[in-house]
Amino acid sequence: MIGIFKGLATTLSTFARRPVTIKYPDEKHVLPVRQRSFPVLTWDFDHDEPFCTGCNVCVRNCPVDCMTATMQDNPNYAAGTSDRRKIVEKFWIDYARCMRCNICVEVCPFEAIVMDNNWTGHEHSTYDRLDLHMDIDDLLRPSKSGELTVPFRPQDRIEYIERLERGEELPELTFKGARPEARQAQFERLARGEEAAIRLREPEKPKAPAAAAGAPGAAAAAQQLLTDAEGKPLSEKKIRAKRMKAERAAKEAQDAGESIPDDVLQMLIATNSEMAPAEARQAAAGAPGAAAAPSKVLTDAEGNPLSERKIRAKRMKAEREAKEAQDAGEPIPQDVMEILVATGSEMAPPEARQAAAPAAAPAATSPLLTDAEGNPLSERKVRAKRMKAEREAKGAQDAGEPIPQDVMEILVATGSEMAPPEARQAAAAAAPAAAPAPQLTDAEGNPLSERKIRARRMKAERAAKEHLARGEEIPADVRETIEMTGGTVPDSAD
Ligand code: SF4
Ligand code: SF4
Repeated sequence: MIGIFKGLATTLSTFARRPVTIKYPDEKHVLPVRQRSFPVLTWDFDHDEPFCTGCNVCVRNCPVDCMTATMQDNPNYAAGTSDRRKIVEKFWIDYARCMRCNICVEVCPFEAIVMDNNWTGHEHSTYDRLDLHMDIDDLLRPSKSGELTVPFRPQDRIEYIERLERGEELPELTFKGARPEARQAQFERLARGEEAAIRLREPEKPKAPAAAAGAPGAAAAAQQLLTDAEGKPLSEKKIRAKRMKAERAAKEAQDAGESIPDDVLQMLIATNSEMAPAEARQAAAGAPGAAAAPSKVLTDAEGNPLSERKIRAKRMKAEREAKEAQDAGEPIPQDVMEILVATGSEMAPPEARQAAAPAAAPAATSPLLTDAEGNPLSERKVRAKRMKAEREAKGAQDAGEPIPQDVMEILVATGSEMAPPEARQAAAAAAPAAAPAPQLTDAEGNPLSERKIRARRMKAERAAKEHLARGEEIPADVRETIEMTGGTVPDSAD
């Protein structure tokens, strides 16, 4: 009896209580201060362009590798309406992979990326994970439309509220762009018939025609500039320093309305600077030993070869798409496969990659890349060799000494980025057309991912050891799998 009354008392006490639930999505709770949804890009209303320069700092720091960004020359800089020389061209974030860690926001040097702290930032339900790949338009929309509240960087907001609670003077907002006031100011400028962007300088004068560009012998002269006093090729670091110096000198000449001096122009061409005329760079690239014309996939709309960074971004995007197709059990689309092959991705079939490499006259394999019996080393061993040589070269450079000749030879043979570009190109051109490597594919003929190849190798190595432990011969198929996956056939069960 007492139990019944106790139960009734509990029922009556909750009966009169206000419900704790609300009718989402018509009603919404106020989001907590420290909450964060997903990263978005901010819009600079003063200059009518994104804050992001595509510098890739956030991309490199993202722990789950879900971002891709590319950079381009900023047309507004030449027009004098922006002080950003470079600007983001494309940007993707895969929200399905993002873990909302806020690292990209913290590392961005331009405050160009923030966490969307609104409900709209959370409401991304879709039927297809692919719809969670956000491109630059998706990422800029919340800022451009004024949906982002202020201040919206979590660290700003927290400090603001903590000081408010303590009754202290509120911090001055250091980051003033992309806020509703900035957007309003832009509207007012437009209403007054002014331009959206604030004009900072006079528009740049058109580039002076390059007299020396494409002149006979220009390529050879350009190559000569990249050697030291003893005729040895310069390191990449020195070439970059030379290029930057030449770009500064060229910029000063352009700002003064003068033509670029001949020696500076030669250096721009030799170092493949984007300030050099495209045709001259191509002529320099066509110097003896240079690689063949790049695949169409690796050129921009004007036919100029893409920069290494853009090729990497292209490869990463294609690899993600190929991975998604594989995960969905579908074959890799033809256009994606073409990019994988052209960019030398490890997801492309090895023989297609070899075929895409510049055709070269048959030559002997570098003895540096063969074992004691003259057989070519596996990819894994070549990589290990390259990494060891790079460590030694780095040690020599740090000690202010030249890179030893034998180490330099390995750097060149293994295609290391520490080897001078022209030496690498020459080595690539001399590389033999290797016999097609056996392809590792799944049941449907799609190339296996690196992870699967590693798993296959480990399984085969385990099986080989088990056979040896039982005193049996290693079966031929197990031996073959180990060799195909780049493993080492064990000679004992230990
Ligand atoms: S929040 Fe973290 S996981 Fe998401 S994009 Fe930024 S760095 Fe990557
Ligand atoms: S968001 Fe920031 S860190 Fe990332 S690419 Fe743009 S400017 Fe660089």
